[in-house]
Amino acid sequence: MRSSAVSVASESLNNVNWSATSTPMPSRSFRVGRSNTGLGLFATKKIARRAAIVTYSGKMITTEEANRRERRFNARYMFEVNRHWTIDGSSRRNFGRYVNHSCEPNAEAVMRNRKIVFVAARTIQPGEEVTVDYGEEYFAHFFKTAGCRCAACAKKKKRRKARKRERAA
Ligand SMILES: [Zn+2]
Repeated sequence: MRSSAVSVASESLNNVNWSATSTPMPSRSFRVGRSNTGLGLFATKKIARRAAIVTYSGKMITTEEANRRERRFNARYMFEVNRHWTIDGSSRRNFGRYVNHSCEPNAEAVMRNRKIVFVAARTIQPGEEVTVDYGEEYFAHFFKTAGCRCAACAKKKKRRKARKRERAA
C-alpha cells in the first residue's frame, strides 16, 4: 500500500539542499504504543514545531518494484519518494512505519539529508499520537470499505450521529 505523504515529500524534494550539513537526530522523543487503530507512535516529550521526530527508513527500491510487491504480496509500508524511487519500510526497525494516518495530522513528511523524516507540523504535547496525512492513494486503498478511523473522522462521525438523533427526536 502506497503511503503517499508523497505529495508533501516530493514537493519538498524540489527545494532540497543536498549539500546541507547533516543535523543529528535528537534523542528519541517517542514510544510505540496502542492506538485506536492498532499500534501507533506517541510523543514522550514536548516536540517543537519543525523538529524531526523519526526517519522513515528502509531499502530504496524502484517504484516499479514497489508496485510489483504491492500487487504480489499486498506489501504495506511502501513510501513513494517520487515517481522513480520508493522506500520499502517494512522492517520492524523502521519506527516510521508506526506513524498512523490522520486527516488532521500533527506531523508531515519532508526530505532531509536524502532521508524521509517526519517532522512536527505544530507543537506536539507529551502523550499525543504522532500522525501524518498519507494522501489520497493511501486513503483509497485502505479506507474505501471501512472508512477512515482517525480521531478527526471519528469525532465527525459522532457529531453526525448526534445530529441524526436530534433530527429523529
Ligand atoms: Zn480521517
